[in-house]
Amino acid sequence: MAVLVTGGAGYIGSHTVVELLEASEEVVVVDNLQKGHEKAVVGGKFYHGDLRDEEFLKKVFEENDIEAVIHFAADSLVGESVKDPLKYYNNNVVATLRLLTAMKEHGVSKIVFSSTAATYGEPENIPILETDRTVPTNPYGETKLAIEKALKWADSAYGIKYTALRYFNAAGAHPSGKIGEDHKPESHLIPIILKTALGQMESVSIFGTDYNTPDGTCIRDYIHVTDLAQAHVLALQRLRENGESRIYNLGNGMGFSVKQVVELAREVTGVPFKVVNGPRRPGDPAVLVASSGKIQRELGWQPRFNDLWTIIETAWNWHKNHPDGFGD
Ligand code: UDP
Repeated sequence: MAVLVTGGAGYIGSHTVVELLEASEEVVVVDNLQKGHEKAVVGGKFYHGDLRDEEFLKKVFEENDIEAVIHFAADSLVGESVKDPLKYYNNNVVATLRLLTAMKEHGVSKIVFSSTAATYGEPENIPILETDRTVPTNPYGETKLAIEKALKWADSAYGIKYTALRYFNAAGAHPSGKIGEDHKPESHLIPIILKTALGQMESVSIFGTDYNTPDGTCIRDYIHVTDLAQAHVLALQRLRENGESRIYNLGNGMGFSVKQVVELAREVTGVPFKVVNGPRRPGDPAVLVASSGKIQRELGWQPRFNDLWTIIETAWNWHKNHPDGFGD
């Protein structure tokens, strides 16, 4: 029986495929390659197609004996979602509803879902607990929260069990150096810093220096992509052991400011790259730090690469050796 990984050619999806293969799982990857890279898929069976294409989805479910789904495929940029919300509702919500329908029709009853810290919006507590209020401040977070709710009702009506993982800031690259982050254009802080250190970008712009934080810049919880990937394998195991549907935060529980990330990256790379102070980016909360106690307690998840130095170092190793990413 196979695990269907949607969006398995993307950054987090491709790292999860590696962990699944290492756990001797049979893997089927579906990706529309809008943002993903076929070269990032290191194994398993690959299908190029879109989840909104019902005929395509039917073919995937008919040709494979799918036991469970890990669902990454989505658009995930906060800024873009504010400019084009319907794109996000379409590619995130509509696509997931088609996927859930196909699961229901083919009797597949386990799904691990990529959710996000953006479901919380402006946090009421730091660190954030799963029970805290969810009031997203952008369409991206809204679409992920809408899907969490659809999953809840699909569980009560059809018995589809889910684990929603609310990611904080995924970063780093596989320690083997074979796969890493490749977004074009890049919008995330750590790859932007490293591309600047490589001379591919002129400077790093700090988005806001007047936040109510010790150094005035935003604080985020960076989690290594391999640790994040590993959580999916644990979530899958728990669903197989007849685990009930759950929502978990997935972060390291430690916050770093943009300035701290910049300073550490200068040390890791040894490059005194240029940094400029810029305006705030709309929709950015000042501080997002996870409480990850629940997933540690219930799934036994333990991060292995939880120091920011290692996170940046693995990413640097990837970017230095793959200056054009996957080259596609
Ligand atoms: N950031 C920044 N300059 C950049 C990109 C990001 O100052 O060029 C900041 C951003 O405002 C946020 C943090 O870095 O506070 C992490 O942003 P990223 O886009 O990497 O992830 P997000 O928090 O949006 O998921």
